[in-house]
Amino acid sequence: MNHSDGERRVALLVSAEVGCIAHVRQILASDAALSLEHVAAMPAAIDEMRVREVEVLLVDLAQLGDDRFAWLAPIQHAEVSVPIVLLSDRDDADEALRALGEGVQEYIHLRDESPSRVVRRLHHAIERHRLIVALDAARHRAQVAATHDPLTRLPNRYLLEEQMHRVLPTARRDGGGVALLYVDLDRFKSINDTLGHAAGDEVLAQVAGRLSSFTRKSDVVARVGGDEFLILLTDIRGEFAPAIVAEKIQEEMSRPFHLSGRDYWVGASVGIAVFPRDADDADTLMRHADLALYQVKASGRGDSRFYSGVLDESVHKRHALEHALRRALGQGGLRIVYQPIFDTTTLGVVGAEALLRWKDAELGRVDPGEFISVAEESGLIVPLGEAVLRTACEQLAQWKSAGHELVMTVNISAHQIDEERLRNLVTQALWDSDLRPGDLELEVTESALMRDEEAAVRTFAALKQIGVGIALDDFGTGFSSLNYLKRFPVDTVKIDRSFVHDLVHEPDDAAIVSAILSMARQLDLAVVAEGVETEQQRAFLTERLCDRLQGFLLSPPLPAEAFEELLRTGVVPAKVEEAGD
Ligand code: C2E
Ligand code: MG
Ligand code: MG
Repeated sequence: MNHSDGERRVALLVSAEVGCIAHVRQILASDAALSLEHVAAMPAAIDEMRVREVEVLLVDLAQLGDDRFAWLAPIQHAEVSVPIVLLSDRDDADEALRALGEGVQEYIHLRDESPSRVVRRLHHAIERHRLIVALDAARHRAQVAATHDPLTRLPNRYLLEEQMHRVLPTARRDGGGVALLYVDLDRFKSINDTLGHAAGDEVLAQVAGRLSSFTRKSDVVARVGGDEFLILLTDIRGEFAPAIVAEKIQEEMSRPFHLSGRDYWVGASVGIAVFPRDADDADTLMRHADLALYQVKASGRGDSRFYSGVLDESVHKRHALEHALRRALGQGGLRIVYQPIFDTTTLGVVGAEALLRWKDAELGRVDPGEFISVAEESGLIVPLGEAVLRTACEQLAQWKSAGHELVMTVNISAHQIDEERLRNLVTQALWDSDLRPGDLELEVTESALMRDEEAAVRTFAALKQIGVGIALDDFGTGFSSLNYLKRFPVDTVKIDRSFVHDLVHEPDDAAIVSAILSMARQLDLAVVAEGVETEQQRAFLTERLCDRLQGFLLSPPLPAEAFEELLRTGVVPAKVEEAGD
């Protein structure tokens, strides 16, 4: 191998024929950009290109024997990217076409061309190649962006589904098995909320690393949602492989994550579906893995579970409800009704309780008790609760500007109890609708406070400081009601409607209600009786100086327009159905 000066780029000629080498050297002598080097055979050229940059590869076709293209395969195989120019000893149009079809840039019949034209064609070949490489790189980048999650660099849902559609037909033909594992992190949200998004991202990246560490190369690990991952296992026999992988996931995820010097435990729930046993196509496989995961979550998380055809009815139903609720949140179908709260003596309206109503196109009217618990389990309660609070505040602002004085009461779920988030939400909602803190009262049940007492104490102390009212809902149904009155800054207790219901016939209930009323008086708390349905109940409560009444006797929950009419006229509009459908 002969070397020439360094500045110019290398044109590497493959030829053992002295006449050809001399000819090409003469042609390139006039070119300032390229310097010629030569090797005698293709293997040497490939070795050369592996260690140094070659601007263009010139191949002397004359000496390549019968199969004049056999040398191309090894060069393509070597994955070196270089423009190739063929120097031919004959002017063969078919051969030229075939060469271009193989990705060769130029086919030059040396004897026909002037030296300057050959040089020009070499430079064109180099330029064209450069463009193609740039285009390929751009295409590759776009493809990666469209098929991968930028944070973890794992395939995204799209790529996983592609892969699934590729492997299922093969598995069906060969009688192989494919398993899909749906992985959902258990406590990711709280890390994200308390330590911030950067920490959350760090956890996701680490999870991606852990999940990829024990899967085979042919398996696909994809990130398909905030904290959701899918693992596709191909070519499995029986249940062994998915069970082992699931166990491995649990093991990996039970190790702590180190974040800013401390250890955090996240944990995962895994739902597994196996093709062809559990599903016959990609969509069903996905749905069944999701259902299995849903079952794990419903029964306490941190576990793995195979799809079982005999999922009980209620799981199916809740799963369907969750999907429909998600849809409703995006597209409407949810609305708020307001139940008036009356002053016992004047019977004027002093408050309104905002209550959610949901009517789904397919499922019809769904009972709040049912969909609120689904919303709580799925985390949907957070955006849902925020929407209720904001809408209720705006509604109250409208009524107040029309000259009506009343307090808006909004139910807060246990899952919304997060000091910072709730404080921000409440201040923002008050500010945006131009209300005073005293215009708003938040209702919370004892069981909600019990879930995480420490957090609840902090949260409600913060809310109290803002100046919003706190009401203890469904009072009397919990175990330690009196305790809570001492520990939480409560302004109002709402006697649960189960006590009110049997007030007149059950001496025990009458005694409980009387006790609550006298205790509340001593503690200087306001009392609302819920679920007042009869005149006898009203008489009993009035006699014992219960401050406020709420119930069907006086008014059902009303749509906003009907409520406004009540405020204006003092009369509950006729023909308003409960919930006003
Ligand atoms: P809750 O907060 O105790 O609401 C009072 C419930 O009693 C409402 O049921 C209301 O329609 C019903 N009610 C009112 N007067 C009477 C009566 O005279 N007799 C009887 N039998 N019932 C009466 P609803 O609207 O079905 O709500 C049920 C529960 O769902 C609520 O109980 C509350 O815990 C929850 N909920 C409703 N809306 C929301 C919301 O926006 N956020 C949250 N977190 N929970 C909500
Ligand atoms: Mg309530
Ligand atoms: Mg209640």
